[in-house]
Amino acid sequence: MSAPSSKSALPPGGTIGILGGGQLGRMLALAAARLGLKCHIYAPEGDTPAAQVSDAITYAEYDDTSALELFARSIDVVTYEFENVPRDAAETLARHVPVRPSARALEVCQDRVVEKTFLNDAGIRTARFAAVATLQDLETAAARIGLPAILKTRRFGYDGKGQTQLHGDSGIADARRSVGEAPAILEALVPFDAELSIIIARGLDGTTACYDPARNVHENHILARSEVPAGISDALAADARAIAENIVNRLDYVGVMGVELFFIGANGGELYVNELAPRVHNSGHWTMDACGVDQFEQHIRAVAGWPLGSPERHHNAVMQNLLGSDIDAWQKLASEPGTAIHLYGKGETRLGRKMGHVNRLSPLGG
Ligand code: AMP
Repeated sequence: MSAPSSKSALPPGGTIGILGGGQLGRMLALAAARLGLKCHIYAPEGDTPAAQVSDAITYAEYDDTSALELFARSIDVVTYEFENVPRDAAETLARHVPVRPSARALEVCQDRVVEKTFLNDAGIRTARFAAVATLQDLETAAARIGLPAILKTRRFGYDGKGQTQLHGDSGIADARRSVGEAPAILEALVPFDAELSIIIARGLDGTTACYDPARNVHENHILARSEVPAGISDALAADARAIAENIVNRLDYVGVMGVELFFIGANGGELYVNELAPRVHNSGHWTMDACGVDQFEQHIRAVAGWPLGSPERHHNAVMQNLLGSDIDAWQKLASEPGTAIHLYGKGETRLGRKMGHVNRLSPLGG
Protein backbone atom coordinates (compact mmCIF):
# COMPACT_ATOMS: atom_id res chain seq x y z
CA MET A 1 0.00 0.00 0.00
CA SER A 2 1.45 3.37 -0.92
CA ALA A 3 1.46 6.34 1.42
CA PRO A 4 -0.55 9.26 0.03
CA SER A 5 1.56 12.20 -1.05
CA SER A 6 1.48 14.91 1.58
CA LYS A 7 -1.37 16.89 0.03
CA SER A 8 -3.50 14.31 -1.80
CA ALA A 9 -6.86 13.08 -0.48
CA LEU A 10 -7.26 9.48 0.59
CA PRO A 11 -9.97 8.00 -1.64
CA PRO A 12 -12.81 5.80 -0.34
CA GLY A 13 -11.46 2.31 0.31
CA GLY A 14 -8.30 3.70 1.92
CA THR A 15 -7.30 2.78 5.47
CA ILE A 16 -6.81 5.08 8.45
CA GLY A 17 -4.75 3.78 11.36
CA ILE A 18 -5.92 4.86 14.82
CA LEU A 19 -3.72 4.62 17.91
CA GLY A 20 -5.96 3.79 20.86
CA GLY A 21 -9.00 1.55 21.11
CA GLY A 22 -11.41 3.48 23.36
CA GLN A 23 -14.72 5.20 22.70
CA LEU A 24 -13.14 8.07 20.77
CA GLY A 25 -11.50 5.58 18.39
CA ARG A 26 -14.84 3.79 18.08
CA MET A 27 -16.72 6.96 17.11
CA LEU A 28 -13.91 7.89 14.67
CA ALA A 29 -14.14 4.45 13.06
CA LEU A 30 -17.93 4.72 12.73
CA ALA A 31 -17.55 8.10 11.05
CA ALA A 32 -14.86 6.74 8.71
CA ALA A 33 -17.12 3.83 7.74
CA ARG A 34 -19.84 6.29 6.68
CA LEU A 35 -17.33 7.80 4.26
CA GLY A 36 -16.31 4.44 2.82
CA LEU A 37 -12.95 4.48 4.60
CA LYS A 38 -11.51 1.60 6.61
CA CYS A 39 -9.91 1.74 10.05
CA HIS A 40 -7.15 -0.32 11.61
CA ILE A 41 -6.92 0.09 15.39
CA TYR A 42 -3.61 -0.24 17.27
CA ALA A 43 -3.98 -0.67 21.02
CA PRO A 44 -2.55 -2.63 23.92
CA GLU A 45 -4.57 -5.73 24.84
CA GLY A 46 -7.78 -4.95 26.72
CA ASP A 47 -11.38 -3.86 26.34
CA THR A 48 -11.34 -2.12 22.94
CA PRO A 49 -14.68 -0.57 21.98
CA ALA A 50 -13.08 0.68 18.74
CA ALA A 51 -12.13 -2.81 17.56
CA GLN A 52 -15.80 -3.89 17.57
CA VAL A 53 -16.54 -1.52 14.68
CA SER A 54 -13.24 -1.54 12.75
CA ASP A 55 -11.75 -3.55 9.91
CA ALA A 56 -8.59 -4.64 11.71
CA ILE A 57 -6.95 -4.56 15.12
CA THR A 58 -3.34 -4.91 16.19
CA TYR A 59 -2.88 -5.66 19.87
CA ALA A 60 0.62 -4.51 20.82
CA GLU A 61 2.43 -2.07 23.08
CA TYR A 62 3.35 1.41 21.86
CA ASP A 63 7.06 0.62 22.18
CA ASP A 64 6.88 -2.49 19.98
CA THR A 65 8.74 -1.16 16.95
CA SER A 66 8.21 -4.19 14.73
CA ALA A 67 4.45 -4.22 15.44
CA LEU A 68 4.31 -0.49 14.69
CA GLU A 69 6.15 -1.01 11.39
CA LEU A 70 3.83 -3.83 10.31
CA PHE A 71 0.85 -1.67 11.27
CA ALA A 72 2.24 1.28 9.30
CA ARG A 73 2.53 -0.90 6.18
CA SER A 74 -1.18 -1.73 6.33
CA ILE A 75 -2.49 1.85 6.51
CA ASP A 76 -2.40 5.06 4.47
CA VAL A 77 -2.40 7.64 7.26
CA VAL A 78 -2.36 7.44 11.04
CA THR A 79 -4.12 9.42 13.74
CA TYR A 80 -4.73 8.94 17.46
CA GLU A 81 -7.46 9.20 20.07
CA PHE A 82 -5.21 10.21 22.99
CA GLU A 83 -2.43 12.76 23.32
CA ASN A 84 0.11 10.70 25.23
CA VAL A 85 1.36 8.86 22.16
CA PRO A 86 5.05 8.17 22.89
CA ARG A 87 7.36 10.27 20.73
CA ASP A 88 9.29 7.23 19.50
CA ALA A 89 6.07 5.57 18.32
CA ALA A 90 5.06 8.70 16.40
CA GLU A 91 8.55 8.90 14.84
CA THR A 92 8.54 5.23 13.82
CA LEU A 93 5.15 5.63 12.15
CA ALA A 94 6.10 8.92 10.49
CA ARG A 95 8.87 7.12 8.58
CA HIS A 96 6.14 5.22 6.69
CA VAL A 97 2.91 7.24 6.70
CA PRO A 98 1.69 10.77 7.45
CA VAL A 99 0.96 11.22 11.17
CA ARG A 100 -1.93 13.65 11.66
CA PRO A 101 -2.03 15.74 13.82
CA SER A 102 1.76 16.12 13.59
CA ALA A 103 4.55 15.31 16.04
CA ARG A 104 4.82 19.07 16.73
CA ALA A 105 1.21 19.13 18.00
CA LEU A 106 1.98 16.20 20.30
CA GLU A 107 5.11 17.89 21.59
CA VAL A 108 3.17 21.05 22.50
CA CYS A 109 0.14 19.32 24.00
CA GLN A 110 1.97 16.64 26.01
CA ASP A 111 3.75 19.03 28.35
CA ARG A 112 1.86 21.72 30.28
CA VAL A 113 4.87 24.05 30.45
CA VAL A 114 5.59 23.81 26.70
CA GLU A 115 1.85 24.24 26.02
CA LYS A 116 1.41 27.36 28.17
CA THR A 117 4.64 28.87 26.80
CA PHE A 118 3.36 28.27 23.25
CA LEU A 119 0.01 29.87 24.12
CA ASN A 120 1.52 32.95 25.77
CA ASP A 121 3.90 33.39 22.79
CA ALA A 122 0.78 33.37 20.60
CA GLY A 123 -0.69 36.21 22.70
CA ILE A 124 -3.21 33.91 24.39
CA ARG A 125 -3.99 34.25 28.09
CA THR A 126 -3.37 31.36 30.48
CA ALA A 127 -3.04 31.06 34.24
CA ARG A 128 0.29 32.47 35.43
CA PHE A 129 2.67 29.55 35.80
CA ALA A 130 6.18 28.40 36.66
CA ALA A 131 8.04 25.18 35.89
CA VAL A 132 8.94 23.16 38.99
CA ALA A 133 11.76 20.60 39.03
CA THR A 134 12.83 20.71 42.68
CA LEU A 135 11.40 21.54 46.09
CA GLN A 136 13.31 24.80 45.99
CA ASP A 137 11.75 25.67 42.60
CA LEU A 138 8.36 25.08 44.17
CA GLU A 139 9.09 27.41 47.07
CA THR A 140 10.30 30.12 44.68
CA ALA A 141 7.30 29.59 42.37
CA ALA A 142 4.83 29.75 45.28
CA ALA A 143 6.36 33.03 46.43
CA ARG A 144 6.20 34.49 42.91
CA ILE A 145 2.76 33.22 41.85
CA GLY A 146 1.09 33.42 45.24
CA LEU A 147 -1.17 30.93 46.98
CA PRO A 148 -3.62 29.27 46.60
CA ALA A 149 -2.27 27.68 43.43
CA ILE A 150 -2.42 24.32 41.68
CA LEU A 151 0.54 21.99 41.31
CA LYS A 152 0.21 19.63 38.34
CA THR A 153 2.53 17.13 36.73
CA ARG A 154 3.84 18.51 33.42
CA ARG A 155 2.88 15.30 31.61
CA PHE A 156 0.30 12.50 31.75
CA GLY A 157 -2.35 14.24 33.88
CA TYR A 158 -6.03 13.73 33.09
CA ASP A 159 -9.42 14.10 34.81
CA GLY A 160 -7.78 15.87 37.77
CA LYS A 161 -5.17 13.11 38.28
CA GLY A 162 -1.58 14.23 38.97
CA GLN A 163 -2.61 17.54 40.52
CA THR A 164 -3.15 19.06 43.93
CA GLN A 165 -4.14 22.45 45.34
CA LEU A 166 -1.64 24.31 47.43
CA HIS A 167 -3.16 26.58 50.10
CA GLY A 168 -0.30 27.52 52.40
CA ASP A 169 3.47 27.36 52.65
CA SER A 170 3.27 24.50 55.15
CA GLY A 171 1.82 22.14 52.51
CA ILE A 172 4.60 22.63 49.94
CA ALA A 173 6.60 19.47 50.59
CA ASP A 174 3.39 17.38 50.82
CA ALA A 175 2.12 18.82 47.55
CA ARG A 176 5.34 17.93 45.81
CA ARG A 177 5.18 14.39 47.17
CA SER A 178 1.56 14.03 46.12
CA VAL A 179 2.49 14.56 42.46
CA GLY A 180 5.19 11.91 42.80
CA GLU A 181 8.01 14.51 42.74
CA ALA A 182 7.64 14.43 38.95
CA PRO A 183 8.54 17.47 36.82
CA ALA A 184 5.64 19.81 37.51
CA ILE A 185 4.02 23.18 36.87
CA LEU A 186 2.63 25.55 39.46
CA GLU A 187 -0.39 27.47 38.17
CA ALA A 188 -2.17 30.43 39.73
CA LEU A 189 -5.78 29.60 40.54
CA VAL A 190 -8.01 31.22 37.91
CA PRO A 191 -11.22 32.49 39.59
CA PHE A 192 -13.40 31.30 36.73
CA ASP A 193 -17.20 31.58 36.56
CA ALA A 194 -17.55 28.72 34.09
CA GLU A 195 -15.54 26.21 32.10
CA LEU A 196 -16.04 26.30 28.35
CA SER A 197 -14.53 24.50 25.41
CA ILE A 198 -14.40 25.00 21.70
CA ILE A 199 -13.84 22.33 19.08
CA ILE A 200 -12.04 23.31 15.89
CA ALA A 201 -11.01 21.37 12.80
CA ARG A 202 -8.26 22.32 10.36
CA GLY A 203 -7.96 20.64 7.00
CA LEU A 204 -4.89 19.67 5.01
CA ASP A 205 -5.40 22.80 2.86
CA GLY A 206 -5.45 25.06 5.93
CA THR A 207 -9.20 25.74 6.00
CA THR A 208 -10.77 25.75 9.46
CA ALA A 209 -14.22 24.87 10.77
CA CYS A 210 -15.16 25.83 14.30
CA TYR A 211 -18.13 24.61 16.33
CA ASP A 212 -20.04 26.76 18.78
CA PRO A 213 -18.46 26.92 22.24
CA ALA A 214 -19.89 24.61 24.92
CA ARG A 215 -20.30 25.21 28.66
CA ASN A 216 -18.93 22.26 30.60
CA VAL A 217 -19.89 21.00 34.05
CA HIS A 218 -17.50 18.63 35.83
CA GLU A 219 -18.31 16.36 38.74
CA ASN A 220 -15.49 14.65 40.65
CA HIS A 221 -13.06 16.04 38.01
CA ILE A 222 -14.89 14.18 35.23
CA LEU A 223 -16.97 15.90 32.55
CA ALA A 224 -20.63 15.40 33.44
CA ARG A 225 -22.41 17.71 30.95
CA SER A 226 -21.79 20.01 28.01
CA GLU A 227 -24.39 22.61 27.10
CA VAL A 228 -24.73 24.50 23.82
CA PRO A 229 -25.33 27.39 23.51
CA ALA A 230 -22.88 28.22 26.25
CA GLY A 231 -24.73 31.35 27.44
CA ILE A 232 -21.95 33.79 26.56
CA SER A 233 -22.11 36.91 24.38
CA ASP A 234 -21.59 36.71 20.62
CA ALA A 235 -18.46 38.82 21.07
CA LEU A 236 -16.96 36.34 23.53
CA ALA A 237 -17.90 33.40 21.31
CA ALA A 238 -16.06 35.19 18.49
CA ASP A 239 -13.04 35.60 20.80
CA ALA A 240 -13.09 31.86 21.53
CA ARG A 241 -13.09 31.11 17.79
CA ALA A 242 -10.25 33.53 17.17
CA ILE A 243 -8.18 31.87 19.92
CA ALA A 244 -8.82 28.40 18.48
CA GLU A 245 -7.97 29.54 14.94
CA ASN A 246 -4.79 31.23 16.09
CA ILE A 247 -3.67 27.98 17.79
CA VAL A 248 -4.32 25.59 14.92
CA ASN A 249 -2.87 27.94 12.31
CA ARG A 250 0.34 28.43 14.29
CA LEU A 251 0.76 24.66 14.60
CA ASP A 252 -0.05 24.07 10.91
CA TYR A 253 -2.43 21.59 12.50
CA VAL A 254 -4.42 18.91 10.67
CA GLY A 255 -7.39 17.34 12.46
CA VAL A 256 -9.76 18.24 15.27
CA MET A 257 -8.58 19.95 18.44
CA GLY A 258 -10.43 20.58 21.71
CA VAL A 259 -9.52 23.86 23.41
CA GLU A 260 -10.49 24.01 27.11
CA LEU A 261 -11.22 27.49 28.40
CA PHE A 262 -11.91 29.30 31.66
CA PHE A 263 -14.51 32.06 31.45
CA ILE A 264 -14.47 35.02 33.82
CA GLY A 265 -17.64 37.12 33.61
CA ALA A 266 -16.34 40.41 35.06
CA ASN A 267 -15.05 43.29 32.87
CA GLY A 268 -17.23 42.25 29.93
CA GLY A 269 -15.87 38.71 29.98
CA GLU A 270 -12.41 37.19 29.63
CA LEU A 271 -11.17 33.83 28.34
CA TYR A 272 -8.12 31.89 29.51
CA VAL A 273 -6.95 28.70 27.86
CA ASN A 274 -6.52 25.84 30.32
CA GLU A 275 -5.55 22.96 28.10
CA LEU A 276 -5.36 21.74 24.49
CA ALA A 277 -6.40 18.26 23.39
CA PRO A 278 -4.93 17.36 19.96
CA ARG A 279 -7.84 15.03 19.19
CA VAL A 280 -11.59 14.73 19.26
CA HIS A 281 -12.89 15.71 22.69
CA ASN A 282 -15.61 14.56 25.08
CA SER A 283 -17.04 18.09 25.20
CA GLY A 284 -17.66 17.86 21.44
CA HIS A 285 -19.93 14.81 21.54
CA TRP A 286 -23.00 17.06 21.26
CA THR A 287 -22.00 17.71 17.62
CA MET A 288 -23.04 14.13 16.74
CA ASP A 289 -26.72 15.05 16.81
CA ALA A 290 -26.81 18.84 16.71
CA CYS A 291 -24.65 19.51 13.62
CA GLY A 292 -24.64 18.33 10.01
CA VAL A 293 -21.05 17.10 10.21
CA ASP A 294 -19.88 16.08 13.68
CA GLN A 295 -16.39 16.31 15.22
CA PHE A 296 -15.59 12.67 14.40
CA GLU A 297 -16.41 12.93 10.69
CA GLN A 298 -14.62 16.29 10.62
CA HIS A 299 -11.45 14.70 12.06
CA ILE A 300 -11.59 11.83 9.57
CA ARG A 301 -12.13 14.29 6.71
CA ALA A 302 -9.17 16.37 7.87
CA VAL A 303 -6.68 13.54 8.32
CA ALA A 304 -7.79 11.93 5.05
CA GLY A 305 -7.23 15.24 3.22
CA TRP A 306 -10.91 15.68 2.36
CA PRO A 307 -12.75 19.01 2.37
CA LEU A 308 -14.14 19.85 5.81
CA GLY A 309 -17.91 19.81 6.31
CA SER A 310 -20.11 22.53 7.77
CA PRO A 311 -19.91 22.82 11.57
CA GLU A 312 -23.22 24.68 11.67
CA ARG A 313 -25.52 23.80 14.56
CA HIS A 314 -29.16 23.00 13.81
CA HIS A 315 -30.30 22.31 17.40
CA ASN A 316 -29.49 23.32 20.92
CA ALA A 317 -28.00 20.40 22.82
CA VAL A 318 -27.15 19.14 26.27
CA MET A 319 -24.71 16.22 26.28
CA GLN A 320 -24.70 14.09 29.41
CA ASN A 321 -22.03 11.48 29.98
CA LEU A 322 -23.24 8.09 31.17
CA LEU A 323 -20.73 7.21 33.87
CA GLY A 324 -20.58 3.83 35.57
CA SER A 325 -24.04 2.55 36.50
CA ASP A 326 -25.79 5.48 34.71
CA ILE A 327 -25.87 3.09 31.77
CA ASP A 328 -28.34 0.84 33.63
CA ALA A 329 -31.05 3.37 32.69
CA TRP A 330 -30.50 2.68 28.97
CA GLN A 331 -34.10 1.61 28.30
CA LYS A 332 -35.56 4.72 29.90
CA LEU A 333 -33.05 6.95 28.10
CA ALA A 334 -33.76 5.24 24.79
CA SER A 335 -37.46 6.06 25.17
CA GLU A 336 -36.96 9.78 25.96
CA PRO A 337 -38.22 11.96 23.10
CA GLY A 338 -35.61 14.28 21.59
CA THR A 339 -32.76 12.26 23.09
CA ALA A 340 -30.08 10.45 21.10
CA ILE A 341 -28.28 7.67 22.93
CA HIS A 342 -24.71 6.52 22.21
CA LEU A 343 -23.30 3.49 24.01
CA TYR A 344 -19.68 2.42 23.72
CA GLY A 345 -19.94 -1.37 23.95
CA LYS A 346 -17.67 -1.60 27.01
CA GLY A 347 -17.67 -4.96 28.74
CA GLU A 348 -17.29 -3.94 32.34
CA THR A 349 -19.14 -1.18 34.20
CA ARG A 350 -16.86 0.58 36.70
CA LEU A 351 -17.43 3.60 38.94
CA GLY A 352 -16.85 6.77 36.90
CA ARG A 353 -16.09 4.86 33.68
CA LYS A 354 -17.40 6.51 30.52
CA MET A 355 -19.95 3.98 29.25
CA GLY A 356 -21.85 6.18 26.80
CA HIS A 357 -23.54 9.54 26.48
CA VAL A 358 -26.88 11.05 25.55
CA ASN A 359 -27.57 14.20 23.57
CA ARG A 360 -30.80 15.97 24.51
CA LEU A 361 -31.88 18.25 21.69
CA SER A 362 -34.17 21.25 21.60
CA PRO A 363 -35.03 23.64 18.78
CA LEU A 364 -32.72 26.59 18.10
CA GLY A 365 -33.94 29.65 19.95
CA GLY A 366 -36.03 27.40 22.23
P1 AMP B 1 -6.81 19.99 33.99
O1 AMP B 1 -6.29 18.63 34.30
O2 AMP B 1 -5.75 21.01 33.75
O3 AMP B 1 -7.86 19.98 32.91
O4 AMP B 1 -7.59 20.46 35.32
C1 AMP B 1 -8.73 19.78 35.81
C2 AMP B 1 -9.70 20.77 36.43
O5 AMP B 1 -9.09 21.48 37.53
C3 AMP B 1 -10.15 21.87 35.47
O6 AMP B 1 -11.25 21.43 34.68
C4 AMP B 1 -10.54 22.98 36.45
O7 AMP B 1 -11.81 22.73 37.02
C5 AMP B 1 -9.49 22.84 37.54
N1 AMP B 1 -8.33 23.69 37.26
C6 AMP B 1 -7.22 23.31 36.58
N2 AMP B 1 -6.33 24.32 36.49
C7 AMP B 1 -6.88 25.37 37.13
C8 AMP B 1 -6.43 26.72 37.39
N3 AMP B 1 -5.23 27.16 37.00
N4 AMP B 1 -7.28 27.53 38.07
C9 AMP B 1 -8.48 27.09 38.50
N5 AMP B 1 -8.94 25.83 38.29
C10 AMP B 1 -8.16 24.98 37.62
